[in-house]
Amino acid sequence: MTDCIFCKIINGELPSTNVYNDGQVTAFRDINPAAPTHILIVPKKHIDSVNELSVEDEPLIGHLFLIAKQLAAQEGIAEPGYRLVINTGAESGQTVNHVHLHLLGGRQMRALG
Ligand code: AMP
Repeated sequence: MTDCIFCKIINGELPSTNVYNDGQVTAFRDINPAAPTHILIVPKKHIDSVNELSVEDEPLIGHLFLIAKQLAAQEGIAEPGYRLVINTGAESGQTVNHVHLHLLGGRQMRALG
């Protein structure tokens, strides 16, 4: 997608603070962190949102979560704990229309619900 910020980061057209890269996924620090650790784990395949996922994306989405677990351990937040968030659609606060998993941690967070 030519006008997608995350595709531009994936293609090297925009800079990022990269923390992980493989054939399917890249991960970089959020430019406007909401917690001491705030990493975005992003599939290289452009998918607008969870609403556009298909059955063929199932292994890819599982992979995102395993990378999140690995990065949480690397960041030293596996034990105190962390939050994984995927915003979907305008009312959720999704601002970048390219599926991504937020990894947030490093401080106590307000419980949901
Ligand atoms: P969401 O609101 O769930 O769509 O999340 C988008 C996230 O992308 C926000 O937390 C932004 O701060 C972050 N973001 C936007 N542009 C960049 C960028 N160029 N590099 C890193 N993070 C970004």
